Amino acid sequence: MRDRKSSDISNHANSANPEPRAAPTHMPLEWDTPMYRLAVNQLDQTAELMNLDPNIWERLRTPQRAHVVSFPFRRDDYNTVETVFAYRVQHLLTMGPTKGGIRYHEDVNLGEVTALSMWMSWKCAIMNLPFGGAKGGVRIDPHTLSGDELQRLTRRYTSEIIEVIGPDRDIPAPDLGTDERVMAWIMDTYSQQKGYAVPGVVTGKPIEIGGSHGRSEATGRGVISCATEAGRSNDISLDGADVVVQGFGAVGGTAARLASAQGAHVVGLSNATGGTYNSKGLDIAAVSAWTKANGDGLADYPEGDAVSNQELLELPCDILIPAAIQNQITEKNAAALRCRMIVEGANGPTTLEADAILADRDILVVPDILANAGGVTVSYFEWVQGLQQFFWSEEEVNRKLIDLMQSAYHSVDQLAKEKGVTLRTAALMRGIERIKQAKHVRGVFP
Ligand code: NAD
Repeated sequence: MRDRKSSDISNHANSANPEPRAAPTHMPLEWDTPMYRLAVNQLDQTAELMNLDPNIWERLRTPQRAHVVSFPFRRDDYNTVETVFAYRVQHLLTMGPTKGGIRYHEDVNLGEVTALSMWMSWKCAIMNLPFGGAKGGVRIDPHTLSGDELQRLTRRYTSEIIEVIGPDRDIPAPDLGTDERVMAWIMDTYSQQKGYAVPGVVTGKPIEIGGSHGRSEATGRGVISCATEAGRSNDISLDGADVVVQGFGAVGGTAARLASAQGAHVVGLSNATGGTYNSKGLDIAAVSAWTKANGDGLADYPEGDAVSNQELLELPCDILIPAAIQNQITEKNAAALRCRMIVEGANGPTTLEADAILADRDILVVPDILANAGGVTVSYFEWVQGLQQFFWSEEEVNRKLIDLMQSAYHSVDQLAKEKGVTLRTAALMRGIERIKQAKHVRGVFP
């Protein structure tokens, strides 16, 4: 890695620093996990290409604040008290309040939440939103919890992080394993402690308490908007395309429905239990009704053939949409994929090694930090509507979302062409550059 002469981050009075410093390379032990390494390696590769000031580069590799909590959680039987681990990480406080989802999953750890908070920083900067990145998580499988247990867990977690969240401070939203019901409990717990209603403490909340129209579908809608734009520039029309979607939750479910509404054949669909394949295309409403009536097991869906999640990713299709969890497209399967384009609904579904293989194979990847930014964009709309107490119609929200997604896509695409880099690298460059400029004008305290 090369040395730098002067620093963009230092105050002007001190800028005559004669000592060049090397680019940062160490991987801090506190955060070191596969997902954190992926996020930092993406940053390092991009920073190198951008010739980024090492002072800023190093600041961006670790979060500004990382809260680790453990708390007792009582099961419904009133006998068992478990100790649960949970996190709230704020990566970047330079741009405004921090923003990012809360994830409930049995594998959640500090490194994972930190990686997700970094990606939130880039995402907000790419979309020009006045937020830094944050993320939260509770290490628990939400599917093992009763409704009462889920509520108790959420309220206790909120109490544990209450000092670090707030409408001007850090604003959570739904992510994997959480939904608008969880957001309502967080809002209620926070408001009870403050003594007055504070709807702005979360986004992705129900409409009845100040949620925005279009928020629950925003991430999936943004994914499909990116798929449409990327398809337009690459001769893949959504109308008539074969699409495979991994994950049938908030993001994947909406993406599948909207793709189908635009004339695509959704030939493969999966969730955590497995998947189903029908070369003629699946009826998404029928799949949804069937899973509601028969439990989650998509592999048993009678109008399709059972496939495993691994097989699903390798199905022949035009567009593959990973919309479940991280680390799905790796050096083990990247050479076997049979899609023309990948649009990442999930965060971190593709490893660095797989990215290189896909680039060699000319498979276009629309990266997570661009493709799934629709969620935080409508969260921003929700925050703005809440501040003004003036609420927009669903059409208005969707139109504004699509306008912003289209212009972000084209700005990243243009940069990728100018610099001769992948869309992921261009998106990272765009986000990091905006943050660099903000850090430069703010300087260093004291
Ligand atoms: P969700 O909980 O609503 O749905 C997740 C889906 O993935 C479910 O169908 C689940 O069964 C499936 N799944 C879980 N583990 C799986 C596995 N091992 N293999 C295959 N499928 C599996 O979550 P979501 O909100 O749709 O989030 C999905 C992804 O999108 C996550 O990576 C999340 O970080 C990302 N994301 C979500 C939002 C949002 O607004 N909800 C925004 C940006 C990014």
